[in-house]
Amino acid sequence: MMDGIGIIGGSGLYLLDGFEDVREVTVETPFGPTSDVILVGRLGGRDLAFLPRHGRGHRYLPTEVPYRANVWALKSLGVSRIFSVSAVGSMKQEITLGTPVLVDQFIDRTVARPSTFFGNGIVGHVSMADPTCPALRGLLAQVATEAGVEVIQGGTYVCIEGPQFSSRAESFMYRQTGVDVIGMTNATEAKLAREAEICYATLAIPTDYDCWHESEEAVSVEAVIARLSLGIGRARSLILAAIARLDEAGPCRCHEALAGAVMTDPARIPAEAKVRLAPILGHRLP
Ligand SMILES: [Zn+2]
Repeated sequence: MMDGIGIIGGSGLYLLDGFEDVREVTVETPFGPTSDVILVGRLGGRDLAFLPRHGRGHRYLPTEVPYRANVWALKSLGVSRIFSVSAVGSMKQEITLGTPVLVDQFIDRTVARPSTFFGNGIVGHVSMADPTCPALRGLLAQVATEAGVEVIQGGTYVCIEGPQFSSRAESFMYRQTGVDVIGMTNATEAKLAREAEICYATLAIPTDYDCWHESEEAVSVEAVIARLSLGIGRARSLILAAIARLDEAGPCRCHEALAGAVMTDPARIPAEAKVRLAPILGHRLP
């Protein structure tokens, strides 16, 4: 796979129209198995890899999703851009249910999951100032405008550990900070994609109003699933349109994220770490 596209589907996104020559690929990773076998094929003349974040049948908690294995595997297959789709709660009245949000910022409130490829003998620090790819986000906004599909351009996603939904006090606190949507997975993925120098775009699908809304029911699994299909359909059509026009994406610096990021003296990086991180860091190490 060269310059491939990865799609990480969240709750409810498992199928793609026009995905051809599909085969199942299992990738062994130093971080254990991926969420599921990866479906690899062709779509719109491009190589594409699809991975259901929670595994088929929704088997992994947000805390348990093997994010590092997933991103490592996609990188090793040749994926250079990831479109990520996930269900979220809306934290603002004007962020209407089913309208995809093209997230441009995260607040990471997770506490119980690994969210870096570094460690165990190798130290690195990448910038998360602009955590999603401006080129992919811009392209998604452009194809949405042209297709007349409503999207919200930009938004801050607060990522909580879960698996429980927020308490009302937490929901009110997040609202006071001005966040737009709330979810449990994408900040972790965005960090790892950045460390892997992969362009990353989040299409967040609001399915509920968390529990802050006075006249809406507090979020429940039943409500999420009932409202997911409309937004998933929109996200899917936007991704397909964006893939068809990928050559029109603007410039970005995602592929340079690791330039100058490694702090450890190269002579002191353990050989094991170099092997473990070869697909991620190999080109940056002497
Ligand atoms: Zn990029």
